[in-house]
Amino acid sequence: MLTTRPRGTSDILPGEVEKWQYLEQVIHRLCREYGYSEIRTPIFEHTELFERGVGETTDIVQKEMYTFLDRGGRSITLRPEGTAAVVRAYLENKLYAGPQPVKLYYTGPMFRYDRPQAGRYRQFNQFGVEVLGSHDPALDAEVIAMAMDFYGRLGLKNLNLLINSVGCPRCRPVLREKLQDFFRARVDRLCSHCRGRLERNPLRILDCKEERCREAGKDAPTSLDYLCPDCEAHFQAVLKQLEKLGVAFTVDRSLVRGLDYYTNTAFEITVQGIGAQNSIGGGGRYNGLVKECGGPDIPGIGFALGLERVLLTMEQQGIVIPRPPKLDVFLATADEAARDRALVLVQRLRQEGLAVDMDYLGRSLKSQMKYAGKLGVGLVVILGSDELERGVVTLRDMSAGSQREIPLDRLAGEVRQHGLKHVSGEGKYGS
Ligand code: AMP
Repeated sequence: MLTTRPRGTSDILPGEVEKWQYLEQVIHRLCREYGYSEIRTPIFEHTELFERGVGETTDIVQKEMYTFLDRGGRSITLRPEGTAAVVRAYLENKLYAGPQPVKLYYTGPMFRYDRPQAGRYRQFNQFGVEVLGSHDPALDAEVIAMAMDFYGRLGLKNLNLLINSVGCPRCRPVLREKLQDFFRARVDRLCSHCRGRLERNPLRILDCKEERCREAGKDAPTSLDYLCPDCEAHFQAVLKQLEKLGVAFTVDRSLVRGLDYYTNTAFEITVQGIGAQNSIGGGGRYNGLVKECGGPDIPGIGFALGLERVLLTMEQQGIVIPRPPKLDVFLATADEAARDRALVLVQRLRQEGLAVDMDYLGRSLKSQMKYAGKLGVGLVVILGSDELERGVVTLRDMSAGSQREIPLDRLAGEVRQHGLKHVSGEGKYGS
């Protein structure tokens, strides 16, 4: 127990964490270019926020939340998704009073008590964006294009973008009735949760993970058959904008998303080859959510992409992630007197912006060189007391196997020069 992490969680170790740092760099840059600002909300929120914001009849709320009472007796939930919290923060901090629309993005861990398997974890990371304050279908297209741009920048191929419209509260009552009629005739084929959903929220049945419910839902009436004229016009406008942007899509009338607050556009991005959990991201419009959370009637749209699945896909597609060199230089010491001077010199080089490390285990010069080799350092400075007296050090190019003496005061410059020459020789994280 003490040496085992909880099921469905992972340790991201050195060697792996650089991949995450790379994803984060791409995300920050992408978001800046699209005009989004970062928001960081708490890891836990009041449980009601998700019950209200995600929907009481959803799988997430009914089966998957990490909910507990804190020591003050309040019901707290580890966030299972990002949108409800962003909307809460938007309201609490009155962001609606500033310039509109408000374009926000986040990255971070989400928690769902799901059955762990390849691509499905209990703690996983999402990158998401939310835009509040505009109905414009161009924005739906922008948000979708942005998600595709993110995958494109990472080099992902063979993605399927599925898109649908789930309508609005005006067109939904008709669909609801049609769905109830449809499922009432098949009620004995539904799981117990879905039997309960039949009267309360039959749309959710279409999103149940149980095989029997999926089977029963085949050929069910779809939202596209019952869109009101406004929703139909909005959907067509989004598709037209996507065509103009050259974003390929497939209309999937059976697509419903796992959260209750979606209206109009719903989309999902899937990929083959990473197993049964093939959705690498999804999102949609949620025009009713801000009001549902007690705010003004303000529309919203966003996406959430699963970063573990993105990395799995990159690995599966053989995409290599650039890896910055770990250290610019390793400082090895030849004798006791040099060792005495080493830390000061290392610190000075660090303050000049170089990544430097030294030996802390009292190793011989030979084993320090071996250690530097294991670290993959391209350059080693060898410090000896004779040389120090003459104001010089030895610089060893590890890959060329050559070495030369240089004046101590030129050390930082030489290391930087070496780094510039060897930039193309950076390591790579392979698959
Ligand atoms: P959702 O918030 O359910 O719309 O999920 C958005 C994306 O998050 C999905 O497309 C997945 O890529 C990812 N995701 C959702 N649940 C999990 C999970 N349990 N483990 C890993 N990734 C997940």
